Amino acid sequence: MAKTSECCSHGPAGRLSWELLELVEDRLSAYAERLRRDKQGGGYKMTASTFDEIGRVLREHQNFAVLSHVRPDGDALGSQLALALSLQKLGKDVRVWNEDGTLEKYSFLPRAELLTKPPVTGLDFDVAIALDTAIQNRLGNTLAAVASAKIWINIDHHLSNPGYGDLVIVDPSAPATGEIIFKLIKSQGLPFDHDIAENLYAAISTDTGSFQYPKTSACTFEIAEELVRDGNLDVGKISQQLYESYPRRRLELLRELLQTTRFIEQDRIASFTLSLKTAGDLRVLPEDNEGLIDHLRAIRSVIVAVFFEELTDGKVRVSMRSKDEAVDVCAICQKFGGGGHTLAAGARIRGSLAEVEEKVLEEVREVVKRGS
Ligand code: 5GP
Ligand code: MN
Repeated sequence: MAKTSECCSHGPAGRLSWELLELVEDRLSAYAERLRRDKQGGGYKMTASTFDEIGRVLREHQNFAVLSHVRPDGDALGSQLALALSLQKLGKDVRVWNEDGTLEKYSFLPRAELLTKPPVTGLDFDVAIALDTAIQNRLGNTLAAVASAKIWINIDHHLSNPGYGDLVIVDPSAPATGEIIFKLIKSQGLPFDHDIAENLYAAISTDTGSFQYPKTSACTFEIAEELVRDGNLDVGKISQQLYESYPRRRLELLRELLQTTRFIEQDRIASFTLSLKTAGDLRVLPEDNEGLIDHLRAIRSVIVAVFFEELTDGKVRVSMRSKDEAVDVCAICQKFGGGGHTLAAGARIRGSLAEVEEKVLEEVREVVKRGS
Protein backbone atom coordinates (compact mmCIF):
# COMPACT_ATOMS: atom_id res chain seq x y z
CA MET A 1 0.00 0.00 0.00
CA ALA A 2 1.21 3.52 -0.73
CA LYS A 3 2.86 5.56 1.98
CA THR A 4 0.06 8.11 2.14
CA SER A 5 -2.70 5.56 2.51
CA GLU A 6 -0.86 3.95 5.43
CA CYS A 7 -0.12 7.29 6.95
CA CYS A 8 -3.71 8.42 6.61
CA SER A 9 -5.27 5.37 8.14
CA HIS A 10 -2.78 5.03 11.01
CA GLY A 11 -1.74 8.63 11.53
CA PRO A 12 -4.22 9.72 14.20
CA ALA A 13 -3.35 6.77 16.45
CA GLY A 14 0.09 8.26 17.15
CA ARG A 15 2.25 5.89 19.20
CA LEU A 16 -0.37 3.23 19.87
CA SER A 17 0.92 -0.34 19.64
CA TRP A 18 0.33 -2.44 16.55
CA GLU A 19 -1.79 -4.86 18.60
CA LEU A 20 -4.07 -2.07 19.61
CA LEU A 21 -4.24 -0.81 16.03
CA GLU A 22 -5.22 -4.27 14.86
CA LEU A 23 -7.91 -4.42 17.51
CA VAL A 24 -9.27 -1.04 16.37
CA GLU A 25 -9.21 -2.19 12.75
CA ASP A 26 -11.08 -5.39 13.68
CA ARG A 27 -13.71 -3.33 15.46
CA LEU A 28 -14.02 -1.02 12.47
CA SER A 29 -14.49 -3.89 10.03
CA ALA A 30 -17.06 -5.45 12.34
CA TYR A 31 -18.84 -2.09 12.39
CA ALA A 32 -18.73 -1.84 8.59
CA GLU A 33 -20.09 -5.37 8.34
CA ARG A 34 -22.91 -4.54 10.75
CA LEU A 35 -23.81 -1.44 8.73
CA ARG A 36 -23.96 -3.57 5.60
CA ARG A 37 -26.16 -6.20 7.23
CA ASP A 38 -28.40 -3.56 8.73
CA LYS A 39 -28.84 -2.02 5.31
CA GLN A 40 -29.97 -5.34 3.87
CA GLY A 41 -32.48 -5.58 6.70
CA GLY A 42 -33.76 -2.14 5.78
CA GLY A 43 -32.53 -0.53 9.02
CA TYR A 44 -29.57 1.69 8.20
CA LYS A 45 -29.54 3.99 5.24
CA MET A 46 -25.82 4.66 5.24
CA THR A 47 -23.65 1.71 4.36
CA ALA A 48 -19.94 1.12 4.06
CA SER A 49 -18.35 -0.73 1.20
CA THR A 50 -14.63 -1.30 1.15
CA PHE A 51 -12.17 -0.02 -1.45
CA ASP A 52 -11.45 -3.70 -2.22
CA GLU A 53 -15.10 -4.38 -3.05
CA ILE A 54 -15.27 -1.35 -5.33
CA GLY A 55 -11.88 -2.18 -6.88
CA ARG A 56 -13.15 -5.66 -7.73
CA VAL A 57 -16.27 -4.28 -9.47
CA LEU A 58 -14.13 -1.82 -11.43
CA ARG A 59 -11.83 -4.60 -12.67
CA GLU A 60 -14.59 -7.11 -13.43
CA HIS A 61 -16.75 -4.87 -15.67
CA GLN A 62 -16.24 -3.11 -18.97
CA ASN A 63 -18.71 -0.24 -19.53
CA PHE A 64 -18.80 2.65 -17.09
CA ALA A 65 -20.67 5.94 -16.71
CA VAL A 66 -18.91 8.37 -14.37
CA LEU A 67 -21.30 11.10 -13.20
CA SER A 68 -21.56 14.03 -10.81
CA HIS A 69 -24.06 16.64 -9.65
CA VAL A 70 -25.77 19.50 -11.46
CA ARG A 71 -24.01 22.87 -11.29
CA PRO A 72 -20.76 20.97 -10.73
CA ASP A 73 -17.79 22.39 -8.84
CA GLY A 74 -14.08 21.64 -9.05
CA ASP A 75 -14.38 18.61 -6.78
CA ALA A 76 -17.17 17.09 -8.86
CA LEU A 77 -15.44 17.59 -12.22
CA GLY A 78 -11.89 16.83 -11.06
CA SER A 79 -13.05 13.61 -9.36
CA GLN A 80 -15.01 12.56 -12.45
CA LEU A 81 -12.07 13.11 -14.80
CA ALA A 82 -9.53 11.48 -12.48
CA LEU A 83 -11.53 8.28 -12.02
CA ALA A 84 -12.53 8.15 -15.70
CA LEU A 85 -8.91 8.54 -16.86
CA SER A 86 -7.76 5.82 -14.50
CA LEU A 87 -10.49 3.48 -15.77
CA GLN A 88 -9.59 4.30 -19.37
CA LYS A 89 -5.96 3.40 -18.70
CA LEU A 90 -7.26 0.12 -17.32
CA GLY A 91 -8.78 -0.50 -20.78
CA LYS A 92 -12.38 0.24 -19.86
CA ASP A 93 -15.05 2.03 -21.93
CA VAL A 94 -16.01 5.14 -20.03
CA ARG A 95 -18.52 7.96 -20.53
CA VAL A 96 -18.09 11.04 -18.38
CA TRP A 97 -21.42 12.80 -18.18
CA ASN A 98 -22.73 15.83 -16.40
CA GLU A 99 -25.96 17.76 -16.93
CA ASP A 100 -23.87 20.89 -17.56
CA GLY A 101 -21.10 19.23 -19.61
CA THR A 102 -17.76 21.07 -19.44
CA LEU A 103 -17.66 24.49 -17.79
CA GLU A 104 -15.60 27.29 -19.33
CA LYS A 105 -13.99 27.83 -15.93
CA TYR A 106 -12.74 24.25 -15.68
CA SER A 107 -11.88 23.73 -19.33
CA PHE A 108 -8.15 23.77 -18.43
CA LEU A 109 -8.46 20.50 -16.49
CA PRO A 110 -6.53 17.73 -18.26
CA ARG A 111 -8.80 15.92 -20.74
CA ALA A 112 -11.75 18.18 -19.83
CA GLU A 113 -13.12 17.47 -23.32
CA LEU A 114 -14.20 14.04 -22.06
CA LEU A 115 -16.89 15.74 -19.97
CA THR A 116 -20.07 15.96 -22.01
CA LYS A 117 -23.79 16.37 -21.54
CA PRO A 118 -25.63 13.04 -21.75
CA PRO A 119 -27.32 12.13 -25.05
CA VAL A 120 -31.11 12.36 -25.22
CA THR A 121 -31.36 8.58 -25.61
CA GLY A 122 -29.45 6.89 -22.83
CA LEU A 123 -26.99 4.01 -23.10
CA ASP A 124 -26.60 0.67 -21.36
CA PHE A 125 -23.86 0.45 -18.76
CA ASP A 126 -22.47 -2.27 -16.55
CA VAL A 127 -21.70 0.26 -13.83
CA ALA A 128 -22.83 3.83 -13.09
CA ILE A 129 -20.70 5.77 -10.61
CA ALA A 130 -22.08 8.87 -8.89
CA LEU A 131 -19.39 11.14 -7.45
CA ASP A 132 -19.78 14.00 -4.97
CA THR A 133 -23.57 13.76 -5.31
CA ALA A 134 -25.52 13.99 -2.05
CA ILE A 135 -28.82 12.71 -3.44
CA GLN A 136 -29.46 10.84 -6.66
CA ASN A 137 -31.79 13.57 -7.97
CA ARG A 138 -28.86 15.96 -8.09
CA LEU A 139 -27.50 13.93 -10.99
CA GLY A 140 -30.06 15.87 -13.05
CA ASN A 141 -30.68 14.55 -16.55
CA THR A 142 -27.74 12.10 -16.42
CA LEU A 143 -29.87 9.90 -14.15
CA ALA A 144 -32.33 8.98 -16.89
CA ALA A 145 -29.51 8.47 -19.41
CA VAL A 146 -27.97 5.66 -17.32
CA ALA A 147 -31.24 4.17 -16.08
CA SER A 148 -30.35 0.63 -17.14
CA ALA A 149 -26.99 0.41 -15.31
CA LYS A 150 -26.64 -2.98 -13.59
CA ILE A 151 -24.59 -1.74 -10.62
CA TRP A 152 -24.60 1.66 -8.92
CA ILE A 153 -21.59 2.97 -7.02
CA ASN A 154 -21.96 6.04 -4.80
CA ILE A 155 -18.74 7.77 -3.66
CA ASP A 156 -19.22 10.99 -1.75
CA HIS A 157 -18.33 13.07 1.30
CA HIS A 158 -21.66 14.77 2.03
CA LEU A 159 -23.00 14.22 5.52
CA SER A 160 -26.55 14.28 4.15
CA ASN A 161 -25.96 11.46 1.62
CA PRO A 162 -28.54 8.73 2.44
CA GLY A 163 -26.36 5.98 0.94
CA TYR A 164 -28.17 5.20 -2.33
CA GLY A 165 -26.66 2.59 -4.65
CA ASP A 166 -25.26 -0.95 -4.42
CA LEU A 167 -21.76 -0.05 -3.31
CA VAL A 168 -21.36 3.01 -1.17
CA ILE A 169 -18.50 4.96 0.33
CA VAL A 170 -19.69 8.11 2.05
CA ASP A 171 -16.96 9.64 4.18
CA PRO A 172 -18.10 12.95 5.70
CA SER A 173 -14.66 13.42 7.26
CA ALA A 174 -13.10 13.78 3.80
CA PRO A 175 -12.81 17.44 2.77
CA ALA A 176 -13.27 16.50 -0.89
CA THR A 177 -14.51 13.55 -2.92
CA GLY A 178 -11.15 13.82 -4.72
CA GLU A 179 -9.45 12.63 -1.52
CA ILE A 180 -11.57 9.45 -1.50
CA ILE A 181 -10.84 8.84 -5.20
CA PHE A 182 -7.13 9.20 -4.49
CA LYS A 183 -7.36 6.56 -1.74
CA LEU A 184 -9.38 4.27 -4.00
CA ILE A 185 -6.84 4.55 -6.84
CA LYS A 186 -3.82 4.06 -4.55
CA SER A 187 -5.26 1.27 -2.41
CA GLN A 188 -6.32 -0.69 -5.50
CA GLY A 189 -3.18 -0.04 -7.54
CA LEU A 190 -5.28 1.56 -10.29
CA PRO A 191 -3.50 3.52 -13.04
CA PHE A 192 -2.17 6.94 -12.00
CA ASP A 193 -0.42 9.63 -14.03
CA HIS A 194 0.13 13.39 -14.33
CA ASP A 195 -3.35 14.13 -15.72
CA ILE A 196 -5.07 12.13 -12.99
CA ALA A 197 -2.92 13.87 -10.35
CA GLU A 198 -3.78 17.34 -11.69
CA ASN A 199 -7.51 16.62 -11.69
CA LEU A 200 -7.36 15.31 -8.14
CA TYR A 201 -5.27 18.28 -7.00
CA ALA A 202 -7.86 20.67 -8.50
CA ALA A 203 -10.68 18.72 -6.80
CA ILE A 204 -9.03 18.87 -3.38
CA SER A 205 -7.78 22.45 -3.69
CA THR A 206 -11.22 23.81 -4.61
CA ASP A 207 -13.24 21.88 -2.00
CA THR A 208 -10.83 22.77 0.83
CA GLY A 209 -10.84 26.47 -0.14
CA SER A 210 -7.14 26.16 -1.02
CA PHE A 211 -6.36 23.93 1.97
CA GLN A 212 -8.02 26.26 4.49
CA TYR A 213 -11.34 24.76 5.60
CA PRO A 214 -11.58 22.82 8.89
CA LYS A 215 -11.67 19.33 7.36
CA THR A 216 -8.24 19.93 5.80
CA SER A 217 -6.07 17.44 7.69
CA ALA A 218 -2.49 16.18 7.77
CA CYS A 219 -3.75 13.44 5.47
CA THR A 220 -4.96 16.07 2.97
CA PHE A 221 -1.49 17.63 2.86
CA GLU A 222 0.14 14.20 2.51
CA ILE A 223 -2.12 13.41 -0.44
CA ALA A 224 -1.36 16.82 -1.97
CA GLU A 225 2.35 16.15 -1.48
CA GLU A 226 2.09 12.84 -3.30
CA LEU A 227 0.04 14.38 -6.10
CA VAL A 228 2.51 17.23 -6.59
CA ARG A 229 5.62 15.05 -6.36
CA ASP A 230 4.52 11.92 -8.24
CA GLY A 231 2.32 13.81 -10.69
CA ASN A 232 5.05 16.43 -11.25
CA LEU A 233 2.48 19.21 -10.85
CA ASP A 234 3.06 22.93 -11.33
CA VAL A 235 1.09 24.22 -8.32
CA GLY A 236 1.50 27.90 -9.25
CA LYS A 237 0.08 27.30 -12.69
CA ILE A 238 -2.89 25.26 -11.47
CA SER A 239 -3.68 27.86 -8.78
CA GLN A 240 -3.53 30.63 -11.35
CA GLN A 241 -5.94 28.73 -13.59
CA LEU A 242 -8.25 28.04 -10.65
CA TYR A 243 -8.16 31.37 -8.81
CA GLU A 244 -6.72 34.05 -11.06
CA SER A 245 -8.42 33.44 -14.38
CA TYR A 246 -11.94 34.73 -13.73
CA PRO A 247 -13.78 36.70 -16.40
CA ARG A 248 -14.24 40.41 -15.74
CA ARG A 249 -17.99 39.93 -15.33
CA ARG A 250 -17.38 38.05 -12.08
CA LEU A 251 -16.08 41.21 -10.45
CA GLU A 252 -18.98 43.19 -11.90
CA LEU A 253 -21.29 40.58 -10.39
CA LEU A 254 -19.60 40.94 -7.00
CA ARG A 255 -20.09 44.72 -7.18
CA GLU A 256 -23.83 44.19 -7.71
CA LEU A 257 -24.06 41.60 -4.94
CA LEU A 258 -22.32 43.87 -2.46
CA GLN A 259 -25.01 46.51 -3.11
CA THR A 260 -27.64 44.05 -1.85
CA THR A 261 -25.73 42.92 1.26
CA ARG A 262 -27.66 42.69 4.55
CA PHE A 263 -26.33 42.12 8.05
CA ILE A 264 -28.65 40.91 10.84
CA GLU A 265 -28.32 39.49 14.40
CA GLN A 266 -25.48 41.81 15.43
CA ASP A 267 -23.73 41.21 12.11
CA ARG A 268 -23.57 37.47 12.79
CA ILE A 269 -25.65 36.69 9.71
CA ALA A 270 -24.80 38.24 6.33
CA SER A 271 -26.57 37.69 3.04
CA PHE A 272 -26.76 38.96 -0.52
CA THR A 273 -29.09 38.25 -3.43
CA LEU A 274 -28.89 37.87 -7.17
CA SER A 275 -32.03 38.53 -9.21
CA LEU A 276 -32.65 37.13 -12.67
CA LYS A 277 -32.62 40.69 -13.98
CA THR A 278 -29.12 41.42 -12.67
CA ALA A 279 -27.84 38.05 -13.88
CA GLY A 280 -29.31 38.81 -17.32
CA ASP A 281 -27.94 42.37 -17.46
CA LEU A 282 -24.43 41.18 -16.61
CA ARG A 283 -24.73 38.03 -18.76
CA VAL A 284 -23.34 35.92 -15.91
CA LEU A 285 -22.99 32.18 -16.19
CA PRO A 286 -24.07 30.00 -13.26
CA GLU A 287 -20.42 29.08 -12.62
CA ASP A 288 -19.44 32.75 -12.12
CA ASN A 289 -20.76 32.94 -8.59
CA GLU A 290 -18.87 29.95 -7.17
CA GLY A 291 -16.89 31.24 -4.18
CA LEU A 292 -18.38 34.74 -3.99
CA ILE A 293 -20.15 33.84 -0.74
CA ASP A 294 -16.67 33.67 0.82
CA HIS A 295 -16.59 37.48 0.85
CA LEU A 296 -19.39 37.37 3.44
CA ARG A 297 -17.90 34.53 5.44
CA ALA A 298 -14.59 36.43 5.62
CA ILE A 299 -16.07 39.12 7.90
CA ARG A 300 -14.98 38.56 11.52
CA SER A 301 -18.43 38.91 13.11
CA VAL A 302 -20.17 36.68 10.56
CA ILE A 303 -21.12 33.15 11.64
CA VAL A 304 -23.49 32.35 8.80
CA ALA A 305 -23.31 33.64 5.23
CA VAL A 306 -26.24 33.16 2.85
CA PHE A 307 -26.49 33.68 -0.89
CA PHE A 308 -29.91 33.81 -2.57
CA GLU A 309 -30.04 33.36 -6.34
CA GLU A 310 -33.28 33.61 -8.31
CA LEU A 311 -33.64 30.75 -10.81
CA THR A 312 -35.70 30.55 -14.00
CA ASP A 313 -37.91 27.70 -12.71
CA GLY A 314 -39.69 29.70 -10.00
CA LYS A 315 -37.23 28.55 -7.34
CA VAL A 316 -34.46 30.26 -5.43
CA ARG A 317 -31.07 28.63 -5.01
CA VAL A 318 -29.83 29.10 -1.48
CA SER A 319 -26.17 28.68 -0.64
CA MET A 320 -25.09 28.71 3.00
CA ARG A 321 -21.81 28.75 4.92
CA SER A 322 -21.15 28.51 8.66
CA LYS A 323 -18.01 29.18 10.68
CA ASP A 324 -19.26 27.42 13.82
CA GLU A 325 -19.84 23.65 14.14
CA ALA A 326 -22.71 24.45 16.55
CA VAL A 327 -24.54 26.14 13.67
CA ASP A 328 -25.22 23.27 11.27
CA VAL A 329 -26.25 24.75 7.94
CA CYS A 330 -26.81 21.27 6.47
CA ALA A 331 -29.61 20.75 9.01
CA ILE A 332 -31.10 24.14 8.12
CA CYS A 333 -31.00 23.38 4.38
CA GLN A 334 -32.46 19.90 4.93
CA LYS A 335 -35.54 21.57 6.44
CA PHE A 336 -36.03 23.16 3.03
CA GLY A 337 -35.36 19.98 1.05
CA GLY A 338 -31.62 20.58 0.49
CA GLY A 339 -28.46 19.22 2.06
CA GLY A 340 -24.68 19.34 2.04
CA HIS A 341 -22.12 19.56 4.85
CA THR A 342 -22.26 21.00 8.39
CA LEU A 343 -20.39 24.14 7.33
CA ALA A 344 -21.43 24.39 3.65
CA ALA A 345 -24.86 23.50 2.33
CA GLY A 346 -27.57 24.50 -0.09
CA ALA A 347 -31.16 24.08 -1.21
CA ARG A 348 -33.52 25.05 -4.03
CA ILE A 349 -36.71 26.51 -2.62
CA ARG A 350 -39.91 27.44 -4.44
CA GLY A 351 -41.01 31.06 -4.05
CA SER A 352 -40.00 34.61 -4.87
CA LEU A 353 -36.65 36.02 -3.76
CA ALA A 354 -38.31 38.05 -1.01
CA GLU A 355 -40.39 35.12 0.31
CA VAL A 356 -37.50 32.68 0.38
CA GLU A 357 -35.17 35.26 1.89
CA GLU A 358 -37.60 35.94 4.71
CA LYS A 359 -38.32 32.34 5.71
CA VAL A 360 -34.72 31.15 5.37
CA LEU A 361 -33.23 34.06 7.32
CA GLU A 362 -35.82 33.53 10.06
CA GLU A 363 -34.69 29.90 10.41
CA VAL A 364 -31.01 30.89 10.39
CA ARG A 365 -31.71 33.55 13.01
CA GLU A 366 -33.29 30.94 15.32
CA VAL A 367 -30.38 28.54 14.95
CA VAL A 368 -27.75 31.25 15.47
CA LYS A 369 -29.55 32.46 18.61
CA ARG A 370 -29.69 28.90 19.96
CA GLY A 371 -26.06 28.21 19.08
CA SER A 372 -24.70 31.33 20.77
P1 5GP B 1 -22.83 25.44 -2.87
O1 5GP B 1 -23.31 26.44 -1.92
O2 5GP B 1 -21.35 25.56 -3.11
O3 5GP B 1 -23.61 25.34 -4.12
O4 5GP B 1 -23.04 24.03 -2.16
C1 5GP B 1 -22.54 23.77 -0.89
C2 5GP B 1 -22.72 22.31 -0.59
O5 5GP B 1 -24.10 22.00 -0.43
C3 5GP B 1 -22.22 21.44 -1.71
O6 5GP B 1 -21.52 20.37 -1.15
C4 5GP B 1 -23.45 21.01 -2.43
O7 5GP B 1 -23.34 19.74 -2.98
C5 5GP B 1 -24.53 21.05 -1.38
N1 5GP B 1 -25.78 21.52 -1.98
C6 5GP B 1 -25.96 22.69 -2.61
N2 5GP B 1 -27.22 22.81 -3.06
C7 5GP B 1 -27.88 21.68 -2.70
C8 5GP B 1 -29.22 21.19 -2.91
O8 5GP B 1 -30.08 21.83 -3.50
N3 5GP B 1 -29.49 19.95 -2.39
C9 5GP B 1 -28.55 19.22 -1.73
N4 5GP B 1 -28.91 18.02 -1.26
N5 5GP B 1 -27.30 19.64 -1.53
C10 5GP B 1 -26.95 20.85 -2.01
MN1 MN C 1 -17.29 17.96 -2.89
